[in-house]
Amino acid sequence: MAAERDMFDQGDLVAVQTTQPLDRTLDYRAPEGGCVTGDFVEVPLGPRKVLGVVWGPGRGDFDRSKIRPVNRVLDAAPMREELRHFLTRAADYTLTPMPAMLRLATRAPGLGDPPSMRKIYRKGGAAPDRMTDARRRVLEVLEEYGGLAFTLHELSEMAGVTTSVIKGLVKLGAVREEDSPRDLPFPPMDPSLPSKELTEDQAAAAAALREHLRSGRYGTTLLKGVTGSGKTEVYMEAVAECLAMGKQALVLLPEIALTAGFITRVEARFGARPAEWHSGVTMTERRRIWRMIGQGGAQVVVGARSALFLPFRELGLIIVDEEHDSSYKQEDGVLYNARDMAVLRAAGAGARVVLASATPSLESWANAEAGKYDRLDLKARFGAAVLPEMRAIDMRAEKLQPSTWISPSLRQAVRARLEAGEQSLLFLNRRGYAPVTICRACGHQIGCDHCDARMVEHRFQNRLICHQCGETKPMPTVCPSCGVEGKLAPVGPGIERLAEEAAAAFPEARLAVLSSDLFGSARALKEKIEEIAAGAADIVIGTQLVAKGHNFPLLTLVGVIDADLGLQGSDLRAAEHTFQLMRQVAGRAGRAELPGLALLQTFQPEHPVIRAILSGDEEGFWRAEAAERQAAGVPPYGRMAGIVISGSDLAAVFDLGNALARNDAPLRAIGAQVFGPAPAPIARVRGRHRIRLLIKAAKGAPLQEAISRWLAPLRLKGDLRLAVDIDPQSF
Ligand code: ADP
Ligand code: ZN
Repeated sequence: MAAERDMFDQGDLVAVQTTQPLDRTLDYRAPEGGCVTGDFVEVPLGPRKVLGVVWGPGRGDFDRSKIRPVNRVLDAAPMREELRHFLTRAADYTLTPMPAMLRLATRAPGLGDPPSMRKIYRKGGAAPDRMTDARRRVLEVLEEYGGLAFTLHELSEMAGVTTSVIKGLVKLGAVREEDSPRDLPFPPMDPSLPSKELTEDQAAAAAALREHLRSGRYGTTLLKGVTGSGKTEVYMEAVAECLAMGKQALVLLPEIALTAGFITRVEARFGARPAEWHSGVTMTERRRIWRMIGQGGAQVVVGARSALFLPFRELGLIIVDEEHDSSYKQEDGVLYNARDMAVLRAAGAGARVVLASATPSLESWANAEAGKYDRLDLKARFGAAVLPEMRAIDMRAEKLQPSTWISPSLRQAVRARLEAGEQSLLFLNRRGYAPVTICRACGHQIGCDHCDARMVEHRFQNRLICHQCGETKPMPTVCPSCGVEGKLAPVGPGIERLAEEAAAAFPEARLAVLSSDLFGSARALKEKIEEIAAGAADIVIGTQLVAKGHNFPLLTLVGVIDADLGLQGSDLRAAEHTFQLMRQVAGRAGRAELPGLALLQTFQPEHPVIRAILSGDEEGFWRAEAAERQAAGVPPYGRMAGIVISGSDLAAVFDLGNALARNDAPLRAIGAQVFGPAPAPIARVRGRHRIRLLIKAAKGAPLQEAISRWLAPLRLKGDLRLAVDIDPQSF
């Protein structure tokens, strides 16, 4: 897309891509002073002013006399060709209209506002004649950090002096006071600080990653290693190499709760804090990060998937940690998988990608098998830690009291840990008190008024919550259907109910319940996790939040309450997800010197997936799973897309689905098949009915092109909406 011309004089025609839902760029005249391709601009659109990016020379196919000038060029570095190119390719791949794609890349608050100013302080002239300890400390800090400038507050903290000492030095000319834009660069990172002493395995993997980076060629490496094997230590070496080359690195984490701990590790390794980008970061900070990334004033960014759309000046490396994690798939608005988009962005930027996981996605495993990705393995856990032993508890043989879920065998194992002063984790992937609330008088189950989902009792909050739409209401005392009082009863366990059972079974134990809805902020959660790691709990009761990446050195037992939970339903990815989750949870046990044990409560111990989990024969599992997917022609051996149609009128939704399914000539032309329409995995959300068509095509088929042609004539009526989901999570 390299434009034949990138600089425009006043009055020249330029094409502007706006963030408004229009299906093409619009022509404008370059403003006074001209503009360049990539400039962020404000343009008039009807009576409004909207944000846009100069995309290249104008097309000139409008009535030239009516073309209006650009209002102004915003004060921001122009969007680089690399990012424009990435957005274009990502839009093509995900079949997302360009304006929606551009909105992902322009989420900088206050973009275009003039920078606000503040006072900063840096080294000035000669030291004053009369020196004091306090004065000396200030000058030492400024000396140590070379040319860096600090705010008054920062400098007084770092030197441990009052602000008046600094003001005094300003008067004497030893410190210089300047006006500066608020957006200060991040402190520089030092890639030459020593790493931990790596094991032989780790050192070999780190050397390979460094070598890949130095080659300067784009490419992807799958870094596979059991939990606790030191993947993070290893990829930190790739970050070091990237920094030494003067390039920027992006580390994606699947969970905001993990960032705080990770940032501490980066700081320990490189001597300075990286930039942090996710929904919990303040607007002012985001604005600063966005600008600094563009200027190279931020070298390492740690963030959520949206960080993929930041305007890096020279991106050298993207790490996708826990690359198998399904939260990398954005399921709202623009539907994309951050792992795949990372590979796409790196390809255009000439950067390297490292996909790290103990339990890779089948996609990445297959790409490594096919030789498309390099693969590095860390086989052993670091230090004395060994992988936990895994065993099934056959629930058919266990005698349980009604409405209890901790089997006698599991109780015994927990008791033994309590006596040894070690921690246990009880894992159940269900938030709330009970998944179902039923009326014992009439059999009514309380559902959400707006969704095809049950309301889940959250007893700690004394409310019912819909996990689809977030709707909440107070826990009723009478049945909303029959009006009988006192007959509503919980059915099945959620994490809160399990905690109740554990409290009764182990009255002497200190319990900690970890579930995303029980913590107001990422900080509160981080503190809780640190407390647990330090030994402040005997039994941890958690949802999948605890399965991800946390380090609990005293934890030696993992009890999975319902290992069969993920195997229900017809989703072809169920086996893969259960395998990953179970191995991941089990990996929480025995991370330090103490050996771990994982016990899986199951009613089907002979199920092939359960057997594979227990035996730990990963390669065997992947090969069997791959063979099944190959036979079914589904990803990663075939291509799929989902078309989700939604609307308030169910008949209209189905009519459109059926019409599309009948008129499938463009799809048949590439040998693709359409299945459905059928109710979508969540059939009603917020009062809107949802149906889905699934499209299956051969691996190399031009699926996106065919879908575009198929949907081109479509005009949506009323409140009907249609979303295309390339590579859906469930099929
Ligand atoms: P992973 O990312 O594979 O789960 P980590 O990199 O988090 O593993 O390592 C697990 C723990 O072991 C961490 O506390 C880490 O600091 C420690 N560790 C790993 N390798 C080394 C090493 N070579 N020297 C010292 N500590 C190490
Ligand atoms: Zn709902």
